Amino acid sequence: MKTIENYIDGRFASPLSGVYLDNVEPATGAVYAQIPESDSADLERAVVAAEQALPAWRDTPLEQRADILLQLADAVAAASEELARAEAIDNGKPVAFARTVDCYRAAANIRFFANALTQFSSESHAMGATAINYTLRDPIGVVATISPWNLPLYLFTWKIAPALAAGNTVIAKPSEITPMTAYLFAQICQQVGLPKGVLNILHGRGQGIGQAMVEHPRIKAISFTGGTATGKHLAATAAPLFKKLSLELGGKNPALVFADCDLDKTVNQLVRAAFANQGQICLCASRIYVQREVYEPFKAAFVKAVKALQVGDPLLESTQQGALVSAAHRDKVLSYIELAKQEGGRVLCGGQQITMDGRCAQGFFVEPTVIEGLTINSRTNQEEIFGPVCTIEPFNDDAEALALANGTEYGLAASLWSQDVSRCHRLAKQLDFGIVWVNTWLMRDLRTPFGGMKASGVGREGGLEALRFFTEPKNVCIQYGDDS
Ligand code: NAD
Repeated sequence: MKTIENYIDGRFASPLSGVYLDNVEPATGAVYAQIPESDSADLERAVVAAEQALPAWRDTPLEQRADILLQLADAVAAASEELARAEAIDNGKPVAFARTVDCYRAAANIRFFANALTQFSSESHAMGATAINYTLRDPIGVVATISPWNLPLYLFTWKIAPALAAGNTVIAKPSEITPMTAYLFAQICQQVGLPKGVLNILHGRGQGIGQAMVEHPRIKAISFTGGTATGKHLAATAAPLFKKLSLELGGKNPALVFADCDLDKTVNQLVRAAFANQGQICLCASRIYVQREVYEPFKAAFVKAVKALQVGDPLLESTQQGALVSAAHRDKVLSYIELAKQEGGRVLCGGQQITMDGRCAQGFFVEPTVIEGLTINSRTNQEEIFGPVCTIEPFNDDAEALALANGTEYGLAASLWSQDVSRCHRLAKQLDFGIVWVNTWLMRDLRTPFGGMKASGVGREGGLEALRFFTEPKNVCIQYGDDS
């Protein structure tokens, strides 16, 4: 049995209460590690460590700060085999996906912000011959990051990298469901010599240590990625405390497939878009709308490709679909499939829990599932399921496609599949989503703003937006002479 520990002031620390939680391997259903159930006493130690580390980190010359972060990125890249295996065990995702997406992008995140911090400039505004304004962008101070279980290392680093790059010291909480790679990351920070107290990692449940972090008066900003309901609660807690808040929340993402698309490519890409990471990516396409002229051939090819997906042990290189992250999440996904049937949906493929042989006999596996025959107003099409389930429906024209795509409370990511460049530009402008992909999915340029509209989030992460979020702007206005 492995024991995960908190990372405070550059050292590993047991929770002061001595209480630990079970950590389950989703592919086997077995408890394989213990994680600290941290509380406000642990938080206080972490806040003090972060406060003590702040002046030196904030004043570290930019090139030196960038150097340390680049070393961290290199060390993550060098450890990516170990990290990928750990993530596959901890999360249930295929090891190949953990390697090529989570680990690769974790190193890329840190490298990007290490480089970006030396390029970050502040504004200046001249007022003719009268005065000049310039804007200082200082780090906020001690900030907190709270991340979810679906892309554990990737989203953990996505938040801490800009926070550290901007000169803040950080208290980070990974999801209690997938704590292992954050623990390994702490070991890497120690090896690389990240100054103590600059990054502190606390483990435990959201309603315990997470809530304590949001309420802590000396933590000035919270960067959160997770569910919309949690985000709503966080916003209500943080608003009266006047904290800076970035919320990256849920999605119910549409893909619009037009008759003039490259059908084979679109089928392949949308199988990936709907089912990558067992559909547990906030950006996954969960509603696929297809122009009526090509609906039947698209549907036939899509369902055939989904049925061919290899579900198996996450540790096998050949596995394309692993386990869902927990028994509770598996049950939630299965309950949505039942709901879809009650709402009149027809299951075209999948729909069942899978009992595997051997090592994974008790794991949390669900067949990749495609459902048709549901209206936009059905709960299945309105609520985030966050699993290997997508719906497919025909549409007649651009106006109907747009109304369907925009017809939920979410606005994270949409994709368009068409060779008509004018239509793509027109619809991209009219879609109420923070990200619109055209003939691609999950392609990311880290310089671009990332985030959702409507119930999918507030604020944007990525690129200079993230560095701006983690700094406090101060305008200095200097008059050239006196008024006389
Ligand atoms: P969640 O909201 O249950 O938990 C997210 C994190 O918040 C966890 O670390 C959890 O411990 C913590 N938390 C829970 N309650 C808290 C509280 N009261 N105070 C402080 N922290 C608290 O989400 P999840 O189930 O871990 O993740 C899945 C959700 O995340 C999905 O809705 C998905 O769409 C969303 N997500 C969004 C993005 C994005 O970039 N928009 C990316 C990935 C995942």
